[in-house]
Amino acid sequence: MNKTVSTLAATGLLVAALSACSISVPGTAAAGATAPQGAPAVSTTVERTPGSQAFSVSQAAPAAVPAGASEDPADRVLHDAEALQPLLDEFWAEELGYYGLDFDAPDRFEYYVGDANSTCGGEHSDGTENAYYCAVDGDEYVAFDVDWLAGYLDEHPGDAVTFLVLAHEWGHAVQDTWIEQEPGADVWEGPAQELNADCLAGVFWDNALRNGTVLEEDGDAEAVYGWLEAAGSGDWMDPGDHGTAEQRQIAFSDGFELGTDYCRTNY
Ligand SMILES: [Zn+2]
Repeated sequence: MNKTVSTLAATGLLVAALSACSISVPGTAAAGATAPQGAPAVSTTVERTPGSQAFSVSQAAPAAVPAGASEDPADRVLHDAEALQPLLDEFWAEELGYYGLDFDAPDRFEYYVGDANSTCGGEHSDGTENAYYCAVDGDEYVAFDVDWLAGYLDEHPGDAVTFLVLAHEWGHAVQDTWIEQEPGADVWEGPAQELNADCLAGVFWDNALRNGTVLEEDGDAEAVYGWLEAAGSGDWMDPGDHGTAEQRQIAFSDGFELGTDYCRTNY
């Protein structure tokens, strides 16, 4: 029997959340709002192969992750990340393959607690309550504060914040591929690169839900749009760096509804 990892939101929920968040997007309920035919409209799970307990991660802070207890929030975040990594890699490999590009997937993900994150390119910046993509050639990885993500599970037990944040970081890996394989074709300034990553996260979610690799769960849409709103105006992310709350919500929604090409040309 398969162990399940809960996640994400449904198309209908995401659209509903748009109105709930009062985003002024013309025609929000139109394109892309319909549920895909045959898509399961049930609870949110990603199937995992039984017995695959080995994380493909390196641990930056040895004391960070409590042992045992699968109900432990930090442990749950790591299981989610482990389940999500191949889905993200496979999706973007296929998606970028349509453009003749070879997705340069992150070599691994790392977790840490507080500022105990490892260096990127020999430099250390405080990773407390944050996640990032290190784009150093030959050592490209995604890292996140596991306690920070685990802290969202109380309010959003559907794990959607973990999935959103990781999908965003994988978006930076997509950008890295664009930059490396189409030199000069993509230049971002200010918050545009972050909004582009939000848009790409929306693309992944839409496809994962339609493909059934990720299934919906009540409350996920609220978690996603609530997080984007808070992260746009939170005290650790300067809106000037990541975009305003509204911009971040719209970017994700655009990716969800309009796809990679739209993200590429509009963010
Ligand atoms: Zn980012």
